[in-house]
Amino acid sequence: MGFVKGLKCRECGRTYKAEAIYVCEFCFGSLEVDYDYDALKKKVTRQRIASGPSSLWRYRDLLPLDGEPTVGFYSGFTPLVKADRLANELGIRELYIKDDSVCHPTLSFKDRVVAVALSKAKELGFDTVACASTGNLANAVSAHGAWAGLKRYIFIPYDLEQAKVLGTLVFAPNLIMVRGNYDDVNRLSSEIAAKYHWGFVNINIRPYYAEGSKTFGFEIAEQLGWRTPDHVVCPVASGSLLTKIWKGFKEFEKLGLIDSVKTSLHCAQPEGCSPVADMILSGADAIRPVKPKTIAKSLAIGNPADGYYARDVVAQSGGTAGIASDDEIREGIQLLAQAEGIFTETAGGVTVAVAKKLVEAGKIAKNQSIVIAITGNGLKTQDAVQSSLQKALEIEPSLKSFESKILASVPSGSSIK
Ligand SMILES: *Cc1c(COP(=O)(O)O)cnc(C)c1O
Ligand SMILES: [Zn+2]
Repeated sequence: MGFVKGLKCRECGRTYKAEAIYVCEFCFGSLEVDYDYDALKKKVTRQRIASGPSSLWRYRDLLPLDGEPTVGFYSGFTPLVKADRLANELGIRELYIKDDSVCHPTLSFKDRVVAVALSKAKELGFDTVACASTGNLANAVSAHGAWAGLKRYIFIPYDLEQAKVLGTLVFAPNLIMVRGNYDDVNRLSSEIAAKYHWGFVNINIRPYYAEGSKTFGFEIAEQLGWRTPDHVVCPVASGSLLTKIWKGFKEFEKLGLIDSVKTSLHCAQPEGCSPVADMILSGADAIRPVKPKTIAKSLAIGNPADGYYARDVVAQSGGTAGIASDDEIREGIQLLAQAEGIFTETAGGVTVAVAKKLVEAGKIAKNQSIVIAITGNGLKTQDAVQSSLQKALEIEPSLKSFESKILASVPSGSSIK
């Protein structure tokens, strides 16, 4: 029924059966899902995709299930917003926001990866799922897992945003706060995953989980009228999303659904945690792991699992990297909100700020088409911007108070009668 051939080592190319495994026994390279592209080419057409459901499952032929999906029927297929006012601010011609701040059900792109991971976990026979998370993955595993009736163990660093903790707890998983940073949480999770028979979405079933990110790229291409943009600016934590947007574009090309891909992918990271951007910008050949210190907590991975693959995609696609400070992140959030009416979280602030810098530096030409990847919702990271916003105006409940306190301060020539 599906088109999965098996898993394949990204380093040595050895093949494996599609089970809950993630590293090559021979070279310790990471495993990736491999498909029968000849069979796919005979079956998949633009029309077949376009007549599918309004969710990421419209691309199910290119997702790693053997049977029907069972989780995430409403996830994905988020708006690609033509952002003319922001384009004008940045002085460029053609700009779009791929807006996963409204992804169902937990308002981040992690709903895509978890829809695929938990559908696969059920197929593989797991009754318990788990994850190590910087916040949004915790929300998504917790919510999708409740809907799917799965037991859940969720591991997070102890200092996450309140809204991300609450937005996990409401679905009543086992939420475990670890006294350490994400990299500590991830190391502990690997030990637990080796001992207990659980579907750990970003460990032993990571090859399947990661495939969900391709749909972010598929949607960009389909929603642009079956073409890819000149540029995509993408936030990077582990580096998975960036590499999978590229894999998605290249699969569409391979299947003849779009012309040859000429898109440059750009890596956006926060100043307090930029190991991948640093490697790209300095030309170093190794990642130097960092201890994260940034308001963009969803991107705070100091030792990124897919960092080298992200670097390779950036190089291969002719892209570059950019870094945003905490203040630039806050400005990026407000710029997007005030130009386009979209409230993104700190990761989106990073992406907007880096896109602006790349345009200013001439790395993105003003007459080219750009997509900015907005991956999460601002209601989850309110603390980051609270102190930089103007205050609400407060009055007594009387017309007199309104007129004296508010209208008296409105400049003359305004449109109030
Ligand atoms: C997880 C996450 C990312 C980055 O994901 P990777 O695939 O790990 O690079 C980007 N934005 C948000 C909001 C996230 O939660
Ligand atoms: Zn190998």
